[in-house]
Amino acid sequence: MHPHPRLRSARPAGLALLFALAWFHAAPAEATRCTPRNEERSDPNTGQRWSQSWYCGNDASAPMFAGPNPASRVATLQSRQSWFVCWRRGDAHAGGNDVWYYTQGDSAAAGWEARRGWGYVPAVALATSVDPDPGMPECQPDMWQARKQVSDPNTGRSWSTVWYGRNDAGATLYLAPDGATATGRLDSTLSYFVCHARGARHGGGNDVWYYTQGDRSAPGQEARRAWGYVPAQNLHTRSDPYDSIPACGDNPAPPPPPPPAGPYVLPLPLDAFERAIGSLTNNHWGGNYWAIDLLVPVGTPVYSVSAGVVSNYSQGTCGNGLTVRGDDGLSYLYCHGDSYVGVQPGQRVAAGQQILRSGNTGQSGAPHLHLEIKQWSGDWGSSPAWCAQRFLRAIHRGQPQSPRNFPASGGDCTAP
Ligand SMILES: [Zn+2]
Repeated sequence: MHPHPRLRSARPAGLALLFALAWFHAAPAEATRCTPRNEERSDPNTGQRWSQSWYCGNDASAPMFAGPNPASRVATLQSRQSWFVCWRRGDAHAGGNDVWYYTQGDSAAAGWEARRGWGYVPAVALATSVDPDPGMPECQPDMWQARKQVSDPNTGRSWSTVWYGRNDAGATLYLAPDGATATGRLDSTLSYFVCHARGARHGGGNDVWYYTQGDRSAPGQEARRAWGYVPAQNLHTRSDPYDSIPACGDNPAPPPPPPPAGPYVLPLPLDAFERAIGSLTNNHWGGNYWAIDLLVPVGTPVYSVSAGVVSNYSQGTCGNGLTVRGDDGLSYLYCHGDSYVGVQPGQRVAAGQQILRSGNTGQSGAPHLHLEIKQWSGDWGSSPAWCAQRFLRAIHRGQPQSPRNFPASGGDCTAP
C-alpha cells in the first residue's frame, strides 16, 4: 500500500484503458485490488507452486529482498504491472504496515543470480489499498538462507550462512534443548537461526530446537550474550528440522547414499535434484554463457557426474570448486561448494563419488551448485561448452549419454 494514494500512469495500451485507469484511480471510494488469473508459478528456491497469480500495479524499479525485510536486496521488479503469488508479514515499512508480497522480478542483483529474481516487495511499492490484498494467500511458513557471518562466543563456532524465519514474539531461549534453564529472549519476530538440535519433546509435536542469538539475556545469564535454543514450536516452519539447516553437534549427519554407479550420474541426491529441476528450463542466468545453476541448500552432497581425475581446485569467483577431467575427455567444473571433502587434485574419482559439499562461496548470492561442461582447449573461457541442462535431464530420464550428444554453445540448450 502506498502511504498516499496518487494517480498512477500505465503503459500506453490504448486511450480507453488510460481513461479507465485514470477514472479508477481517481475514484476514492474504489478499492485498488489485485486481480487473480489462473496462471501457475513455481519457485525453485522453496520448491513451492501456486495455481493463481495476482496482478497488481507497482512502482517502477521496485526493490526486492530475500526475506520480508530490507536486509538483502536480491532483485528489481521492472514491470509496472506484475504478478504476485503470496504475502508475508515482516518488518514494518513506509506503507504503514508489515506486509510484503512475493514474486519473481526482472533483474537479479549482483551475486544473487541463483535466486532467479525471486523475492519480497514491501507493500509500500504496490498500488493496493488494503494489505494484505484480500483473497491473495499468505505465503506458506518458510525459512530462507542468507549470507551472514555470525559467531558464538560460547562455543567458538561461526557460520557464514544463516536461516531466517518468523518466530513468536517473546520466545524464550534455553541453555540446552530441554527447556530447563532460560538464557534469553527473542524480541524480534523475524530472526536468524544457525543450526538445530534434538532434545526434549515440546508442544510443537517434535523434539527439534533451533539455535540463535536472542535480543535480551535472562538475569544471571549475561555472559552467554543471549545465545540459546528455541523450541520449534515457537517458529513458523514448514517442517522440522527445516530442510538442511545443519545440526549443531560437531558430527555432521551422514550424507544420503550416492546415486547408482553408471557412465553418467546426477550430481546431487535424487530428492535435491528434483527440487531444483525447475532450473533445467533456464539458461545460465541471463543466458550469458553455457552452464547451469542448481538451487540446493548448503551442505548437499555433490557427486562427480562422470568417472575421471580431479584436475584442479577452482577458487575465486567459483568459491570452493573443482574440475574433474572425465574419462570421456570432457571437463566438468563444479562451483560454490561449502567445503571440500578431502578429494584432492590428481585423485581418481568414480561417477557418483562425493567431491564437494554444496554451498554459497565465491560469486554466489544464494546456495547453489554451478555446473559447467567443456572441451578443454587451453583456455577455460574460450573452450567450447556443452549443454548441461539436456545432459542432466537425460540422466534423470534413465537415458544417460555423453554431453556431446547435446548441443554445444549456440544450440538450443533448454529444450527437453
Ligand atoms: Zn552459475
